[in-house]
Amino acid sequence: MAGCSGFREDPLLARLAAGEPSAWFNPAVTTTAAGLSASGLSRTMVDDAAARLDRFAPWIAQAFPETSAARGAIESPLEAAPEMQRELGLAAGTLLLKRDDILPVSGSIKARGGVHEVLEYAESLAVEAGLLPADYRAFGSAPLRRLMAQHRVVVGSTGNLGLSIGITAAALGLQATVHMSTHAQAWKKELLRGLGVDVVEHSTDYTAAVDAGRKAAQADPTTHFVDDEHSVSLFAGYAVAGRRVARQLRDQGITVDTDYPLFVYLPCGIGGAPGGVTYGLALEFGGAVHCIFAEPVAAPAMMLGVYTGLHDQISVSELGLDTHTVADGLAVGQPSGFVGRRMQGLIDGYYTVTDQHLKDQVKTLYATEGILAEPSAVASLDGPHWISTDTAYLDRKNLTGRQLKNATHVVWLTGGGMIPAEVQRSYLV
Ligand SMILES: *Cc1c(COP(=O)(O)O)cnc(C)c1O
Repeated sequence: MAGCSGFREDPLLARLAAGEPSAWFNPAVTTTAAGLSASGLSRTMVDDAAARLDRFAPWIAQAFPETSAARGAIESPLEAAPEMQRELGLAAGTLLLKRDDILPVSGSIKARGGVHEVLEYAESLAVEAGLLPADYRAFGSAPLRRLMAQHRVVVGSTGNLGLSIGITAAALGLQATVHMSTHAQAWKKELLRGLGVDVVEHSTDYTAAVDAGRKAAQADPTTHFVDDEHSVSLFAGYAVAGRRVARQLRDQGITVDTDYPLFVYLPCGIGGAPGGVTYGLALEFGGAVHCIFAEPVAAPAMMLGVYTGLHDQISVSELGLDTHTVADGLAVGQPSGFVGRRMQGLIDGYYTVTDQHLKDQVKTLYATEGILAEPSAVASLDGPHWISTDTAYLDRKNLTGRQLKNATHVVWLTGGGMIPAEVQRSYLV
């Protein structure tokens, strides 16, 4: 692929620049085995994160009572949506919704990665201080809370990551600073300030907010910076979803193999959350799982980065796009270079969605299933349409009509659970 200077001659880049909904299935993707080995990542990383979440589960159950029935597991339902499936015109296969819009702790997929990274930091502080308890419920006790109060987590976030980090930090007694763009929703800032989190607002874009946070944190040894672009801890937390979903599918008697393929559609911002989930799913299902990323037309950062091979060295601004979108969780101009470079062999394709369509899909999902997700989350609903339109992709992956009939389509609803009632109502008018 030529650099962006010639984008007007490149049909896909011209369509992206014009803000037209587009899809690209990466012809360089070969096998899952090749993609996994090219990633340079290992299963151990995911095992460690899963074990850490298990160790903390008794504390989580105590700190977040909505998880107590699940004994401190932060997990969401995976459920059928027959009305929405009919609405989408999806005749072959079965549509399932992954309900991270109601994921405990912070009502978005960010509760997977963000909670894990804060717990990893807290655990490391306890180890260093010689205070690591056998029973992790002691993270609620005075000595550990005194230790935590001397330390701070810092993050730059368009919103939901800041919520998950801020809420978890506050629950542990850690100090927290969240750098946000002024575009971030007001209620998210208010909620965090109510928990005692320092919210710093930046009038420039998300990337500038992250840089500001990183700089401030590096100057201080009692501070941990959550780096959305490069964090392995966040990624590992997201990747634990792979084994959880595998378990849910097994429990529901749903087969996944070459003859019964699994398609998973994931809204993508900087790429950490969908990248981590994709990695975890690839470990579980190998070549039987097909992951596709969804981005707003104003911010197709990951598609642009992988398509041009420039990853984090190119911004959507070079196509004249401004990242202004109702999908505030996906309003990212430059993708994570970590995810793009390592994960590109495991991501089958990418597509974009207009703001108007996202708004319409929020209403349709509510009308059909009674689910109120945020605009970012419903970007995943267009996935089944796009895979069925690209015959070159289906041929390349040996996906026949018979397999599509057996397919399970998981639409990942990535957020919406903490939206205040008046904001929810505004989505429906
Ligand atoms: C953050 C977010 C995403 C995407 O996650 P990234 O790691 O930024 O790619 C998707 N949906 C919602 C609701 C989010 O908040």
